[in-house]
Amino acid sequence: MDYRQQLEQLWQYQQVDLQIDKMESVLRNSQLRQRYAKTVAYLKEQQASVARMEGQAQEIQGKLALVARECAASAAEYEAAEDDFGNMTREQLNAMRQKSNQWADTMARREKELSRLTEQLKTQAKQLEEMRAGIARAKKEYPVLKAKYEEEAAKLDEQTAPLRAQRDKMGEGIDSALLKKYKSIKGRRANPVARVIANQCQGCSMEIAQYVLSRAKSDGGIVECENCGRILYLED
Ligand SMILES: [Zn+2]
Repeated sequence: MDYRQQLEQLWQYQQVDLQIDKMESVLRNSQLRQRYAKTVAYLKEQQASVARMEGQAQEIQGKLALVARECAASAAEYEAAEDDFGNMTREQLNAMRQKSNQWADTMARREKELSRLTEQLKTQAKQLEEMRAGIARAKKEYPVLKAKYEEEAAKLDEQTAPLRAQRDKMGEGIDSALLKKYKSIKGRRANPVARVIANQCQGCSMEIAQYVLSRAKSDGGIVECENCGRILYLED
């Protein structure tokens, strides 16, 4: 088989390949597939968020404990000083009064901080509860969707099996380097072989340079479109 015939065969091979793609895309674009993918993504995202929020809650609890310890320490210090009030001079008492005012300020600030942190924790706990409920619902739905999807995928596999067999049989007659090239382009392009009509690549609609055209006409092996990289197929 000369290269032109090889290309003709590859073109036929591509027709079958595209037919298989079309059948597979029906399932890929189905609502079932979308719901399944959405549930998987949701679970992944929510589980990560819960983990992150649990970390934040721990941080807040740490801060809360620290502020509570500071309050207790200040109170103890104040009480210890109170015992000495009786033996103090007027200046010492004045200094003490000033100090106790500062204590009161600091304590008020800390109390505010304490209630702010407690409020934050409460809000977070509520959010976490809602998220966990959502996760539980999705987890229940997930195996049902998965089973349904796998059932559909198996059905599709059965439907496409004859076409895949036909395609692979055709592939046996095609030069292995050419088929390998086709498969490597298939990863990026649905149709790796493009016809040339009126000097235009039918894959990307760009005009093909004269020297590329003459190379394609000379039958000297694989010629790709300079713009889209598809294998160019010039019919006689
Ligand atoms: Zn092209």
